[in-house]
Amino acid sequence: MTATAPENGTARTAILTVDDDPGVSRAVARDLRRRYGQEHRIVRAESGDSALEALRQMKLRGELVAVILADYRMPQMNGIEFLEHAMDIYPAARRILLTAYADTGAAIDAINVVDLDHYLLKPWDPPEEKLYPVVDALLDAWLGSDHRPVPETKVVGHRWSARCSQVREFLARNQVPYRWYNSDEPEGQRLLRAAGVLTDDSGDTNGASGPESSVPLRLPVVVTPDGDALVEPADAELAAKVGLATTPSKDFYDLIVIGGGPAGLGAAVYGASEGLRTVLVERTATGGQAGQSSRIENYLGFPDGVSGAQLTDRARRQAAKFGAEVLTTRDVIGLDINGSARTVRFADGTAIDAHTVILATGVSYRQLRAPGLDDLTGRGVYYGSALTEATACRDQDVYIVGGANSAGQAAVYLSRQAKSVTLLVRSPSLEQSMSYYLVQQIEQIPSISVRTCTEVIEAHGEGHLESLTLRNTANGASEIVPAQFLFLFIGGAPLTDWLADVVVRDPRGFVVAGPDLSIEGERPRGWQLDRQPYHLETSVPGVFVAGDARAESAKRVASAVGEGAMAVMLVHRYLERL
Ligand SMILES: Cc1cc2nc3c(=O)[nH]c(=O)nc-3n(C[C@H](O)[C@H](O)[C@H](O)COP(=O)(O)OP(=O)(O)OC[C@H]3O[C@@H](n4cnc5c(N)ncnc54)[C@H](O)[C@@H]3O)c2cc1C
Repeated sequence: MTATAPENGTARTAILTVDDDPGVSRAVARDLRRRYGQEHRIVRAESGDSALEALRQMKLRGELVAVILADYRMPQMNGIEFLEHAMDIYPAARRILLTAYADTGAAIDAINVVDLDHYLLKPWDPPEEKLYPVVDALLDAWLGSDHRPVPETKVVGHRWSARCSQVREFLARNQVPYRWYNSDEPEGQRLLRAAGVLTDDSGDTNGASGPESSVPLRLPVVVTPDGDALVEPADAELAAKVGLATTPSKDFYDLIVIGGGPAGLGAAVYGASEGLRTVLVERTATGGQAGQSSRIENYLGFPDGVSGAQLTDRARRQAAKFGAEVLTTRDVIGLDINGSARTVRFADGTAIDAHTVILATGVSYRQLRAPGLDDLTGRGVYYGSALTEATACRDQDVYIVGGANSAGQAAVYLSRQAKSVTLLVRSPSLEQSMSYYLVQQIEQIPSISVRTCTEVIEAHGEGHLESLTLRNTANGASEIVPAQFLFLFIGGAPLTDWLADVVVRDPRGFVVAGPDLSIEGERPRGWQLDRQPYHLETSVPGVFVAGDARAESAKRVASAVGEGAMAVMLVHRYLERL
């Protein structure tokens, strides 16, 4: 197979020709190139198989194919069989069969079999009379319909697959634009065939394949803009493919920041901008909880509000601009004290060292314990994720559990798409837990209703959420309501068990720092320095905590950012005395 390289990296619409006779193949390509080579990419193949492989690759790269010319008499796969397979990949491409006079009967049959647009008798000389008018007409017809290329990352998956939902969330939170294709729909199936995941043995092309079919598909498949197909990729593989750093460049730093939410990003910006060799380590995607907020209205300097993703993406770029290394998909599982070095251990067994560490690990959503919820998580039940799933909620009845601002923001955001949004709140009123401005907004949106004194006691569904059992906490009455989507915003818990033997934590797992460590003026147990811990310093000198992970913290974006910046100032003070 030979192909004219795209100019300036931009893929032009292709015309593909396949003929097993190299001389004829070259002659067709030469004539096509002479007339169409400026505006189109001419791709030439010498067998049906290699032409199909070329089409698959082009499909994965998101390239367009306008016209396909196939010779009828090819040994392994004749032109009609080839065009039939090609239709599965590029159904809209116009099809021409090249035939000898003796084969016109077969060509006429092909009009029905593969919906042939034209057959051309060999030889086609002079092309000005026999070839170009045909191709011109087919190109015109093709251009008349909408075939915009999809240059961004494509995700093919099943609507109700938990892993597919996680991958979409991962890409969205890392600001990677992608387009979603349902594996049950024709274009999704075409991409799966091009990626080699779906074959004729693994399901038919009418939606019988997928998680429910007898041969389970390996989903999701993520197709990068370069045309690489990643089958069931892990987060780390995805991160590397989409250009996110995952490996530290050094063994030793001045400052390791653990956690990429507002506090960690704040620390990375100030640390790097003030000359510290800084690395930020994030387990999933930078942004933290704030990255999931549809609109932060109380952050200084944004009178019209700002989406959490926008704010934290800017912060990530700002940190990188100042030279901070930002690693994603790296889970920190241990912190060791080795003399004056602080060693941070990763889940894969590797480690890095630094003079100082800032813990900015925030909080994670608390899980709601009710029968059915665990099985249906990612299949209609979501913790957070309101931003990623919003489009799927169009015209659906959506339920949200939670009475705090995060639940209120999600209700306002989802009400733009959903048929109805019901906010389920355990307490007797919203005002107790939600900001006044949000309560006001919610009251003015007719599609949002609030059910107070209500809790979810069971979730039901085969493969995905179908209904919920709700219980009125005031009178004990329960009822089953149909529901396709349930979003849970029930507050967070710090996941700090890995720090249990290292720093002092409060009974709920939040890290205690500064003056809170002193009991009746005494220094914390094991503290050997002749000074008190600095304000955000933990019970281990040189290890600081900022943001929501800190005991008694404010649980706000602004305070998290502020603490990140302040922790860096204290890092300098610590380093001066080292
Ligand atoms: C939906 C929603 C809406 C909100 N809206 C507002 C609002 O409008 N205004 C407001 O002021 N506040 C709002 N908040 C609260 C605000 O987002 C948080 O207070 C803030 O994000 C806390 O920042 P943080 O950096 O301390 O922690 P987090 O944002 O929780 O970030 C912690 C990060 O650390 C990472 N991490 C944790 N453990 C590890 C580990 N072991 N290894 C590596 N990485 C780890 C996590 O993956 C996470 O990315 C909202 C919260 C939510 C959930």
